[in-house]
Amino acid sequence: MKSAVYPGTFDPMTYGHLDIIKRAANVFDEVTVAVLDNKGKTPLFSVDERVNILKEATKDIPNVKVASFEGLVIDYCLQNKIGVIVRGLRAVTDFEYELQMSQMNRKLSNHRVDTVFFNTTLKYSYLSSSGVKEVAHFNGDLKAFVPDFVADLLLQRYGYKK
Ligand code: ADP
Repeated sequence: MKSAVYPGTFDPMTYGHLDIIKRAANVFDEVTVAVLDNKGKTPLFSVDERVNILKEATKDIPNVKVASFEGLVIDYCLQNKIGVIVRGLRAVTDFEYELQMSQMNRKLSNHRVDTVFFNTTLKYSYLSSSGVKEVAHFNGDLKAFVPDFVADLLLQRYGYKK
């Protein structure tokens, strides 16, 4: 069975992330979306909230699982016997960082774990979690960026909705 992990911050998940998840689920037998629990950062949504958003958004895709992890993604892969990391590429600005990280991870795993990149669907190429938070912060229209239930959670978080 070919398993892959799609790690990220997902604060919160956007349609760009969801697109990568769906496409990865067509290529691999099982995809685990893994939310990074980074104690050094203060995200808008807690790990549990981010996991629950992803679970709700992917509930109809049977070969997608959602989990959280702390520490290095490579350790998560080795512990769970996963040989592939999935990442998304939006533009050249993502490329340098992603290339460096994938090479580091390959080295750290003794060449046991490889990274596979999915290029963004053009219509989501501008989408980022930080951009979405910026729009939500000013009560902007989020419907092109995130599912409605995520938009509601964002607007609640910024005090625009009960
Ligand atoms: P990280 O902090 O690990 O970069 P993110 O949640 O921002 O976490 O992103 C996780 C992955 O999803 C990254 O590989 C990122 O490049 C990719 N990604 C984010 N938004 C998009 C998008 N709109 N289209 C394609 N890939 C995306």
